[in-house]
Amino acid sequence: MIDVEERVIGNLTVRIDRLLCVGFEDCLDVVPNGLVLDNQGIVTFTPDADGLTREQLLAACRICPVDAITVLENGTHIAP
Ligand code: SF4
Repeated sequence: MIDVEERVIGNLTVRIDRLLCVGFEDCLDVVPNGLVLDNQGIVTFTPDADGLTREQLLAACRICPVDAITVLENGTHIAP
C-alpha cells in the first residue's frame, strides 16, 4: 500500500497520510459513511466518499489530532 492515498472529491483533493494516521477514529465520528479503518487500522476512503460534502471533508480534516488528512482546492492547501 502506498504511503499517501489521494482522492478527488468534487473540486477538492483529499490526501490521507498513512504514515501519520494512528487510527484514533475521530474523523470517523464526523464522516462515518465516507471513511473507514482498513485491516491495518489506518483510515481509508469508502465508495461513499465521493458523496461527502466540502464541509464534511474539512471537518474530518480539522478534527484529526495528527493532521493525517489534508485537503487541497485547486492545488492550494486549505486545511488543516
Ligand atoms: S482522526 Fe486522523 S489519526 Fe484518527 S483515524 Fe482519522 S485520519 Fe487517522
